[in-house]
Amino acid sequence: MSEIQLPADFESQMLALLGKQDFENFKAAINRTPRTAIRLNPAKNFSPSWPKNPIPWSKQGFFLEERPSFTLDPAFHAGAYYVQEASSMFIEHILKSLEIPKGVYLDLAAAPGGKSTLLSSYLGNEGLLVANEVIQTRAQILKENAVKWGLGNIAVTNNDPDHFEPLEGFFDLVLVDAPCSGEGMFRKDPQAREEWSLDHVTLCASRQKRIMDKAGALVKGSGYLIYSTCTFNEQENEAMIRFLTEEFAFEPVRISLDSDWKIVETEVETPDGKFFGYRFFPHLVEGEGFFITVLKRPESASSQEPGRIKDFKHSVLKSLGEKEDKTIEAELGLDGSGKYYSLNDSIFRINREFFRHFERISQHLSLRYFGVELGKKQKNDWIPSHEWALSVLPKSGFATFKLDLDQALDFLRKNESILPDLPTGWVLMTYLGLPLGWVKNLGNRLNNYYPKDWRIRM
Ligand code: SAM
Repeated sequence: MSEIQLPADFESQMLALLGKQDFENFKAAINRTPRTAIRLNPAKNFSPSWPKNPIPWSKQGFFLEERPSFTLDPAFHAGAYYVQEASSMFIEHILKSLEIPKGVYLDLAAAPGGKSTLLSSYLGNEGLLVANEVIQTRAQILKENAVKWGLGNIAVTNNDPDHFEPLEGFFDLVLVDAPCSGEGMFRKDPQAREEWSLDHVTLCASRQKRIMDKAGALVKGSGYLIYSTCTFNEQENEAMIRFLTEEFAFEPVRISLDSDWKIVETEVETPDGKFFGYRFFPHLVEGEGFFITVLKRPESASSQEPGRIKDFKHSVLKSLGEKEDKTIEAELGLDGSGKYYSLNDSIFRINREFFRHFERISQHLSLRYFGVELGKKQKNDWIPSHEWALSVLPKSGFATFKLDLDQALDFLRKNESILPDLPTGWVLMTYLGLPLGWVKNLGNRLNNYYPKDWRIRM
């Protein structure tokens, strides 16, 4: 493989940041193949058999010794793990080491959903995550990943950061993994190298300021703001910390580090004190280039509670009454922790504890998905949705059928042949205990309900 050519201005910038020896090490690392890593979905209780090594700052993260074909692994399609480079998984360490209170979180630049799935796992049943993506096609991919992850605690929205203005002081945590100049992706992404220039960095920095000018205000008193980029330069990193402390009241947050991790702490002096950022260099850590900082809103900063919406009104969503909620729970074998909505005849469930927050955000934002879509009721028959199959909610009352690897791949290809001993009616197809989706066996014919757009073509 020929050596990766780096832009000359980028080389000078890195030389100034790292010094001569480290810069040489950095260049050597850029030419090494990145390590493949996955983060397990603890709610799906699955561990692949591939040889793997733990990622030191993430309990659920593992390096793989080789990159397998994820497309040909049914567990990947079942949302049993997410393929994510290791540096990004540091967020797990931030959340756990600071014991950040659970509640209502926002991931403002969320697609494809790597960090959202991590936040979703951290929140479990004790929170609601608004995962937002401004680009419509990317919001669709984000939805797919939220569905596969299956925890039912995510609302996917498709909005510009400006649209969040009515929700100032609403969120316990706001994460902005900002669009950036992508210097940390240079070894993986030739396009990032081609697009890079000093002007492009300046352009990215001003876009980030526009985003953060909105994002900073969304954090409630005592809440946290996490800002990250996959770039090294100071203009998009340290300068952002200065900008945030000029625009808003924030307190510094320092993260505990193990020196073996070789994550580089940077200090930023501001009139409000010394703030901290963390850089991941590919010659020091086994991950891609990354920068992250955490800031805390003072207790006195304004906070907004969702309030009570007496008569919930929405252009397409209808809130169901208590009686209907109970009927659904009885019919579908679900416990009493849900609140239900209908949308185009389909029933959706969210955690009752957060329904006011959910209703409030639905008044201002463009929803693409939320909670778990359970399906439609037609006469006395439930047509269960694929989203429900992939969710961690129980599916009692339905027959299940264990597939081996070849059968599971056939199912994911949307094959419709009837397998020996397959029960009739609705059947949940599983692979190694992981639900993959539904079929309806009509005896002489089988309908495979795996979504057409998701089917594997290999
Ligand atoms: N957090 C994601 C993950 O871990 O999977 C990756 C996010 S990526 C670095 C940045 C995202 O910001 C992209 O999905 C991009 O579409 C979105 N974006 C681009 N311009 C934006 C803007 N002006 N405001 C908000 N988001 C923007």
